[in-house]
Amino acid sequence: MINSIDFNSIYRSHLYWDRKDTFGLGKIFKDLKAGDILLDPFCGGGTPIVAALQRGARVIASDINPMALFLSRVLISPVALFALKEAFKKVENYTARSILENYSILCPKCGKKIYFNYLKWNNDALKRVPESVYLSCHHCGLNKQVSLSKEEITRQIHLSNIEPKHWFPTDPICGRNRTAAKYFCELFTGRNLTSLSILHNSIEKISSVRCRDILHYVFTGMLFDCSLMQNSLTNPLSSSSGLSGGWLSPGFYIHQASQEKNIWKVFVNRFKGVLRCKIKINSIIDCLRISGSIED
Ligand SMILES: [Zn+2]
Repeated sequence: MINSIDFNSIYRSHLYWDRKDTFGLGKIFKDLKAGDILLDPFCGGGTPIVAALQRGARVIASDINPMALFLSRVLISPVALFALKEAFKKVENYTARSILENYSILCPKCGKKIYFNYLKWNNDALKRVPESVYLSCHHCGLNKQVSLSKEEITRQIHLSNIEPKHWFPTDPICGRNRTAAKYFCELFTGRNLTSLSILHNSIEKISSVRCRDILHYVFTGMLFDCSLMQNSLTNPLSSSSGLSGGWLSPGFYIHQASQEKNIWKVFVNRFKGVLRCKIKINSIIDCLRISGSIED
């Protein structure tokens, strides 16, 4: 039986559109027996597959979006946890220091160099301006939102506009777009785009396909949190689960008051959440065979 805490770790492991909660689905599927076949023609984020597999059913799943199939396959596949933790460690060794440097700031209380949690921007005017920064200093214990000095505002604007050296997508936005941005990359600050490209580049270097896929699952699940679509009125970094909510509405937008989050901290939080999800998945799906077609 999946309890509500376990349900959270599976359901909130990714922000794919309109995911259904595994706990509720378990009640809907209560009459499903081992050996039954469930057809899920629009599988989306894959939580109904988990609920059906948990009851011993076989599942035929499809979706028009290849991303949905990828996420579903990664979600239900068990993984060796030690290998996954090792893969994370490699990414940490490759990237953590260089990413964190982009979020450095001097603690206003003790003067030591720390890395901020997020910067609050005002996107109201034509020129975006950083308003305040949220800090938690492990040296002196300072843990609050503080305003920025004139010099620090200039420095943060400069850091926020750095350009990626690694690959990043340059696709135009299609579908519902309620911003002046024409490209997806414009939904991110230069700093966050740079940090994400460093992270993506290092994930690509992981040799284990299964671990690499799970890290891509973590990566794609954090993109909303790292974009200017994130509202500064919420603080997903403080979420006890390490996993936050998602899009406020369909389409793309830039919040008037957005947060520029520390990408490394978001990645670590989200990885921890996905790790909890995989621990649960390992415990409820011990034997799995995925076929590419019904004939297999
Ligand atoms: Zn301090």
